[in-house]
Amino acid sequence: TQDLADRDPEIAAAIKGELGRQRDEIELIASENIVSRAVMQAQGSVMTNKYAEGYPGRRYYGGCDWVDVAENLAIDRAKQLFGCEFANVQPNSGSQANQGVFTALIQPGDTILGMSLDAGGHLTHGAKPNQSGKWFNAVQYGVRKQDNMLDYDEVAALAQEHKPKLIIAGGSAIPRQIDFAKMREIADSVGAWLHVDMAHFAGLVAAGEHPSPFPHAHVATTTTHKTLRGPRGGMILTNDETIAKKVNSAIFPGIQGGPLMHVIAAKAVAFGEALDPSFKTYAQQVIKNAQALSDQLIKGGLDTVTHGTDTHVVLVDLRPKNVKGNATEKALGRAHITCNKNGVPFDPEKPTVTSGIRLGSPAGTTRGFGEEEFRQVADWIIEVVDGLAANGEEGNAEVEAKVKAEVEALCKRFPVYPEG
Ligand code: PLP
Repeated sequence: TQDLADRDPEIAAAIKGELGRQRDEIELIASENIVSRAVMQAQGSVMTNKYAEGYPGRRYYGGCDWVDVAENLAIDRAKQLFGCEFANVQPNSGSQANQGVFTALIQPGDTILGMSLDAGGHLTHGAKPNQSGKWFNAVQYGVRKQDNMLDYDEVAALAQEHKPKLIIAGGSAIPRQIDFAKMREIADSVGAWLHVDMAHFAGLVAAGEHPSPFPHAHVATTTTHKTLRGPRGGMILTNDETIAKKVNSAIFPGIQGGPLMHVIAAKAVAFGEALDPSFKTYAQQVIKNAQALSDQLIKGGLDTVTHGTDTHVVLVDLRPKNVKGNATEKALGRAHITCNKNGVPFDPEKPTVTSGIRLGSPAGTTRGFGEEEFRQVADWIIEVVDGLAANGEEGNAEVEAKVKAEVEALCKRFPVYPEG
């Protein structure tokens, strides 16, 4: 038959295993979410067969009428969601969206200013091992030692000293809102472009639960798969027609070929879902849940960077209990709680060890967890971490097994894809 289970039992088994993992474990990875069945149907559709280089109405291939419908819907809905004039929905990922902006606005060798990876920035914001750090003269800002808040004075001073062509605001492990107006003021003072990378908090912006990068940003990029709860992918937004034209040429033919039309169709579906009033309630709950998680972890004797959060991100500082990020990620994994080790600002440990873990509420909130459930999750984390503190890296197997059983019981009460 044509069925996957018969055609390719190995892959079918891997997918089944992954579904089981998502159902039975608590997903706390801040950059992940659980998309709707409708999003997956669009992504798993015949649009995967279609070449459509170019843009709607201006393609280099025939037969593009229906994929044009899908891309136009994605563009219109994106513009409506973020209140902006232009959207390019073709970037295959958040990294390629950022690359698209660089290709559009700057030249190799130009100076860029972005947040360092250590402080919560993303690899593509000028980190050494990334193309952004190799092809550009990347200068990096961080956070203030006294409160771990973004250091606007440092951004301003580095901007004056290095005169960057482009300043990037945003990151992957920032629990607090960024003052976009202030960043624009700094960018204007040196004639730089302001590029906001809202990959993490775009869903909160779409819901009106986080300040918008607009009108301050010249250009904004995002992923579509984090708080925005769509398929894996990227997008570029702007209000400036000249920038929009440059961005379009940068994505195609600049850095990409045929767009992933099945993913673009799925983006349209996700944007439609985000336009529904229920998405605002979701985003509000995402933030409340992250705050409940942070408060309860602090009560249990851990700390969280900036002692709280305005977003979906909780960056846990494990140092009060003297355990490491890598051991904690593993121990929580044994208890069926999934997260990632993450450096905290000024972390004395190597990136492969770290003093922190990064947690997030988007996936748990999608499956229906409220504050009560997130406080329970915090209590479990404390129990597992206390096991590590008492016994070293092996942790406390008895506690981990008990927590795992309790996690599975909670997961059964909040099923993921119950329809199969
Ligand atoms: N920008 C930020 C702020 C991110 O957090 C991420 C993803 O982790 C990206 C860009 C890159 O997205 P992708 O993984 O889709 O390339």
